[in-house]
Amino acid sequence: MLSWEHTPSLTPMQRDRAWVEIDRAALAHNVRQLKQWLSPKTDLMAVVKADAYGHGAVTIAQTALQHGATWLGVATIPEGIELREAGIQAPILLLGAANTAEQVRAIAQWHLQPTLCTAKQVLVFSEALDELSLPPLPVHLKIDTGMSRLGAPWQEAAEFAQRVQRAPHLRIASLYSHLATADDPDPTIMQLQHHRFQEAIAQVRAVGIKPPRLHLANSAATLADPKLHYDMVRVGLGLYGLHPAPHLTSTVALRPVLQVKARVTQVKAIAAGTGVSYGYKFIADRDLLLAVVGIGYADGVPRNLSNRLEVLIRGQRVRQIGAITMDQLMLDVSAIPDLQVGEVVTLLGQDGNDYLSADDWATSLNTISWEILCGFKHRLPRLTVNQEKREKSETGERVKDKG
Ligand SMILES: *Cc1c(COP(=O)(O)O)cnc(C)c1O
Repeated sequence: MLSWEHTPSLTPMQRDRAWVEIDRAALAHNVRQLKQWLSPKTDLMAVVKADAYGHGAVTIAQTALQHGATWLGVATIPEGIELREAGIQAPILLLGAANTAEQVRAIAQWHLQPTLCTAKQVLVFSEALDELSLPPLPVHLKIDTGMSRLGAPWQEAAEFAQRVQRAPHLRIASLYSHLATADDPDPTIMQLQHHRFQEAIAQVRAVGIKPPRLHLANSAATLADPKLHYDMVRVGLGLYGLHPAPHLTSTVALRPVLQVKARVTQVKAIAAGTGVSYGYKFIADRDLLLAVVGIGYADGVPRNLSNRLEVLIRGQRVRQIGAITMDQLMLDVSAIPDLQVGEVVTLLGQDGNDYLSADDWATSLNTISWEILCGFKHRLPRLTVNQEKREKSETGERVKDKG
C-alpha cells in the first residue's frame, strides 16, 4: 500500500511532503471538448491568470495551445511576461488595466495586447507609443454592460471606439464585455447585458468602425448559450475541469485537472480527553489514532475547514481534527490501525472509488471553486502527470505512440 510509485516523475525532495498533481490528459480533454462545443469559427482563449488558477501558467498555456486554444488571457503584465519568457508566441490579452507609460512600454516590448476602457488610457498609450517607433499596437476595447468593473459605459461605446480609432499608434483588435451573472440559472440579467452588448456593437458599426473580433463569454456563458460565443470565448474555470454551476454540467463533459496530495509524517495514539492543535478546538471523546500530515493553510488548505475537512487514505474517507495549522494538519485515522508514515493522503482528487472536489470545499466555506483553486501557490511543487497513459500502463496495456 505504500505508494511512492504512484507519483512518477517526482524527485524524492518534491514528493516527501505535499504536492499538486496536474493531469495534462484531463486538460487536453477539456480543451478538445470545449472546442467541439464551439462553432469552428469561434476561437478559444485559455484564461491562465493567477498562475492558471493555481495550476501553473506555463504548462497549462502550452498544453491548451497544443490542443486547440489559440489565445491566452492574463490579468497582469508580469503574468504575460512569464509566458513570453517561456517561449510562448500566441496572442496574449491583458484582461486587467494598464495606466502608466511604463506599463505601456512593457506591453509593447513583450507583445501583450492591452484592454482599454478610458479616454485617459488612450492618451497615455498614444503618448508613450509616440516615443517608440513600432507598428500600431493591437488594443481591445472593453465595454461595461452591467458588470460595473472595467469598461467604458455601453452607451458611450461609439464615442470611445472613435477616440481609439483616431489615436495614431493604436489598432482596434476587438470589442468585448464581461457578464456578471452567467452562472445564474435565471438568465434575465445576462440577457440584459447581452442586449446592451449588441446595442454597443450596433452603435460602433454605425460610426463606420468594424471591430475584427467580438467576445463576451466566460466559462459559464460558454456552457450556457452558443448565442453568446461570438468570435471567441474566454474560458478559465472550465479548462480546469470544474463547472461554474450545477445547472451547467450537462453540455460539456469536463475532467478536473488538479489533485492535491500530502504524506503522513507521524502516527500516534492519543487518549480520550486529549486536546488537538492550537486552541484545542478538538478534544478526543475516546482513545483514538491520530496522523499528522505535512500540509497546511500556507499551502492552500483553508484554515476555516478545520474540523470539517475530509480526506482520503487508501480510498477511505478520514476526518480532519483540530485547527489546521500553517504547515500541518491532523487526522483521526482510528479506522486504519496499520497506517504508516509516508502513506499518501488525498485532499482533492481521486483515491480508489471516492473523489474529493474543490466544489465541496467551496460549498462548505460558502465561497466559489475559483477561490479554492487560486489558493494553491508556489510552496506546493507541481507534478505533471498523464492520467490516461498511467492508467493504461498500470493495466499492462502498451501505450501507443501516435507520433
Ligand atoms: C477571469 C476572466 C474570465 C474567465 O472566467 P471563468 O469564469 O473562469 O471562465 C473571462 N473574462 C474575463 C474578463 C475575466 O476576468
